[in-house]
Amino acid sequence: MSKRVDLRRKKTNLQRKKNKKMKLDILAIAVHPDDVELGCSGTLLMEKANGKKTGVIDLTRGELGSRGTPELRAEEAANAAAILGLDVRDNLGMADGFFRNDEDHQRLLIRAIRKYRPEIILANSLEDRHPDHGRAGHLIRDASFLSGLRKIATADEEGRPQEHWRPKYIFHYIQDRYAQPGFVYDITPVFEAKLRSIRAYSSQFFSTVYGTDEPQTYISTPEFLNAIIGRHEMFGKMIGVRYAEGFITEKMIGVRDFDTFVRMDT
Ligand SMILES: [Zn+2]
Repeated sequence: MSKRVDLRRKKTNLQRKKNKKMKLDILAIAVHPDDVELGCSGTLLMEKANGKKTGVIDLTRGELGSRGTPELRAEEAANAAAILGLDVRDNLGMADGFFRNDEDHQRLLIRAIRKYRPEIILANSLEDRHPDHGRAGHLIRDASFLSGLRKIATADEEGRPQEHWRPKYIFHYIQDRYAQPGFVYDITPVFEAKLRSIRAYSSQFFSTVYGTDEPQTYISTPEFLNAIIGRHEMFGKMIGVRYAEGFITEKMIGVRDFDTFVRMDT
């Protein structure tokens, strides 16, 4: 089977899943296709392996990226979705670079949150190198709260009124700039699959087969990928495992038993 036919089949399967009314356990939201893969795809893979329903909403098509095209990035995002075993991947079509944290954008996102009713949302960092990340982090946090207010009326694709819904937790994944995590998630068993999901974006990151005539960017060098691996090792070391992802939480996390804790010598 050719690669292209295979890809089309993956897309059709994703579309079929997308059209079903679906409640998700974990919804990761990101401003650019590839943010989720860099920031929290290991956690999505682990949760999927634990039998949870997982999905991704990309806010934009990353059309301002210096390399590749929006069409190619959409193909890459579909490929990455298949690697992550996502139940859903949507794109809200906001304007890369120019979207705002205002009422129109909040309402668009509230509709998506109410559609999938996730228990936990994983969001861009509240502050990062790329200003889109911080602005998206605030937009996602605000829309997640507003989604829980019953007096904000929204309708689904068929025009039916939606139920209000507030996720229990918003966790911000740490992407480019270092931030002290509130907790780290052991992703050692799925780290190779995480790297594969990042490499699915061959137009964006270092590749020996793609884009030798395209401009090099901050993220397209081999050093960038090495730094990503190093960051995960560093978070892993904090809890005595090989690789981990770090998250920031504004809300306190509570536990009912100590079994939750990773028992390693650190
Ligand atoms: Zn980004």
